[in-house]
Amino acid sequence: MNVIHVQVGDVVRLRKQHPCGGWEWTVVRTGADIGLVCNTCQRRLMLPRHKFRKAVRRITPAPQPAPTSPNPDSPL
Ligand SMILES: [Zn+2]
Repeated sequence: MNVIHVQVGDVVRLRKQHPCGGWEWTVVRTGADIGLVCNTCQRRLMLPRHKFRKAVRRITPAPQPAPTSPNPDSPL
């Protein structure tokens, strides 16, 4: 069974176009269901994981602002 690695903030593209004309969704919740918000019309959608896995075409990970590990190039 494939595990989908998705986290809050990721942008996903689904196979079906939303009626509003949008293709991209932002993940707002992960758990038994995946919570999505349409980037075009801001409508919310909840999908069970197995449905999400079938519906998703591409996952764009959220940009990571800074690494959490300590910086080895620190001047001190
Ligand atoms: Zn929409």
